[in-house]
Amino acid sequence: MNPAARRRALEALRRGRTAPAAAPLFDDPDDAAPDLGVDKVSVLFPLPLPEPFDYRAASTMGIEPGMHVIAPIGPRLVRGVVWAVEKNSPAAANLKAIDEVLLSGPPVPEMSRRFLDWASKYLVASQGNLLAMTVRSPDALLPAPTYRVYAPTGAPVKMTDARARVLAEAAKEEVTAAELARRAEVTGAVVKGLIDAGALAAIEKSEDPPFDAPNLDIEAARARLSPAQNAAADELVAAVSKDTFQTVLLDGVTGSGKTEVYFEAVAAALARDPEAQALVLLPEIALTQAVMARFLKRFGVTPVEWHSGIGHKARRRAWREIASGRARLVVGARSALFLPFPKLCLIVVDEEHDPSYKQDEGVAYHARDLAVARGKLGGWPVVLATATPSLETLINAQSGRYGHVVLSARHGAAVLPDVELIDLKLDPPDKGKWLSPKLVTAVAEALAREEQALLYINRRGYAPLTLCKACGHKMQSPETQSWLVEHRYSGRLVCHLTGYSIPKPKACPNCLTIDAFVSIGPGVERIEEEVRLLFPDARVEIFSSDTAPNGEAVREIVGRMERGEIDIMIGTQIVAKGHNFPSLTVVGVVDADAGLKGGDLRAGERTYQLISQVAGRAGRAERKGRAIIQTYAPHEDVMVALAAQDRDGFLAAEAAGREAAGMPPYGRLASVIVSGPSDEAVNAACETLGKASPSADGVDVWGPAPAPLAVIRGRHRRRFLVRADRGVDLSAFMSAWMSRVKVSSAVRVQVDVDPYSFL
Ligand SMILES: [Zn+2]
Repeated sequence: MNPAARRRALEALRRGRTAPAAAPLFDDPDDAAPDLGVDKVSVLFPLPLPEPFDYRAASTMGIEPGMHVIAPIGPRLVRGVVWAVEKNSPAAANLKAIDEVLLSGPPVPEMSRRFLDWASKYLVASQGNLLAMTVRSPDALLPAPTYRVYAPTGAPVKMTDARARVLAEAAKEEVTAAELARRAEVTGAVVKGLIDAGALAAIEKSEDPPFDAPNLDIEAARARLSPAQNAAADELVAAVSKDTFQTVLLDGVTGSGKTEVYFEAVAAALARDPEAQALVLLPEIALTQAVMARFLKRFGVTPVEWHSGIGHKARRRAWREIASGRARLVVGARSALFLPFPKLCLIVVDEEHDPSYKQDEGVAYHARDLAVARGKLGGWPVVLATATPSLETLINAQSGRYGHVVLSARHGAAVLPDVELIDLKLDPPDKGKWLSPKLVTAVAEALAREEQALLYINRRGYAPLTLCKACGHKMQSPETQSWLVEHRYSGRLVCHLTGYSIPKPKACPNCLTIDAFVSIGPGVERIEEEVRLLFPDARVEIFSSDTAPNGEAVREIVGRMERGEIDIMIGTQIVAKGHNFPSLTVVGVVDADAGLKGGDLRAGERTYQLISQVAGRAGRAERKGRAIIQTYAPHEDVMVALAAQDRDGFLAAEAAGREAAGMPPYGRLASVIVSGPSDEAVNAACETLGKASPSADGVDVWGPAPAPLAVIRGRHRRRFLVRADRGVDLSAFMSAWMSRVKVSSAVRVQVDVDPYSFL
């Protein structure tokens, strides 16, 4: 395809183009022989449409399900995917015609289509919206663009110095004409002259070459594992070898070497079938170079990446290679689950407990739960790896529904840290300070031994609340009514939900008093201020998404911590993920109670997971670590369990509470968020919805209540919460309810089956 044609085709794919008026079925009347069949073709579009639309196509076009086509919707031509074909359907003759088949796009495989159909029903989400997550790179439907490089042909040519330099460079490496001219320090005309004279021949190269195949080399990799790792790997490989669906929890304490164990499950799956594909899901934040380096070390290649950080071109190449089945090892964030793998044989969900697997915006889904469903449809295993399983997963493992592979020992010499609680009522920090004397002493001791300390507080900025001491006015975001967080480095007040920010004003907007603001509560910047006063000679660094906004910055700061160039790190939850700091021996949790506020169903569980992950950063190498947890509630179940490192005891207590309340996993939840530009429109829609809610045994519908965040980005929000007994088909209930209601188009109604965020 020449560049102009390619550009036009792309334009059509992206924006849709105008359809010709009433395209005739047969251009030439002679072709319209009566025995020429017409097929009815159902096409799903990657648009917010509930289901496929029907078209006609001549049977000779040979259209099959999964193919990419261009078809008219109203006056526009739009790309879509064939969902079903009814061969020789005379009734289809009156339908609009398919415009074009995109033969170069790898088809969406049957299993992906079935998965999407299932997900649409389960999530009560539009099929079109789900397809949009599957067909994520329209450019990949066209042949890969190419570029030309040149190689010497050896043909005789009138030689000059300049020409000789060009030919010498071309002999070293095949590069483009422009690059040849640059390297040989000649004008483009010299290179062109050699091409015209036949001394340089063009070679077309794809801009999207296939990825290198992973090197499986199972024997060598197994030899590097510890006996405990090998035993766990054997169990996972056994699951992979069964050719059947099974979910296995790989349950290993921080530092036990879980990653290397599941690598062997991946290798085994890929070794069994030369076309097999494996997908490893990671929380977005964990998709760092450090993780890629471990894949590279094991498989000799970096895996194909799929997440929000890859560029347009990388996305196009990855999508085409995955959809065509050539990419065999894929590492991605939650959205990778929807890619059209033709022969997926294993999914590993690493850090399965991580809340970032849940998507709340757009189509609400939980990638871990959908991964399990995907494996069940495909008939192959799913591995869930974590040091702190979610309650749901642990219960499934303990009841025998999931396999349970335990890796208990820390890898190598590392041992788990001692965990101590500091009761802040008994050992309070000085007035206006946040670190209790006991924690300060522990940090000082670590520094004296030339070791490192980490102070964890999951709040960015300086202080979470700015208050006017003259009138009591709280600085709030006009969009969300949530408190604005003070950031001293930038001198701004920031809404952490929407990113809205203003310079910190001199005067209170309410009473106009000058310089009357006080900062309430600590964030990382305020802890840093305190630490610098206590340890003026220490090298102190903040690690948060403000100081490390991208992968490169994360690598940089993690690298300096690893090399011992930082003495005290102050971090948000970004520090909890997978980093290995050999000289870190003291971890202090500044405010362990923070996550318990807010009445979230999973608040205790998440607090346990986060704090134990942070605590697990201490003492990863030969040195034993200490984790010190500051709390005002040392007798809360979660704190007692953290101190005793009694994860299963804690989860058992949590489970009993959830069971008594009929909450997940003993019951099911769904929410309906109704949002709109005005309170009136939202209230009217809520009233309609409330009246339409079906009554069913074992289902409670609560609300509408103002959503905990009543306003986001100027949209007013209210929420229904639905609780159902475990046996109830909650998706069918929600779907029946939604189908009864028609609300104003200004109002958005979003269903979230299994909600996690109660925001
Ligand atoms: Zn005031």
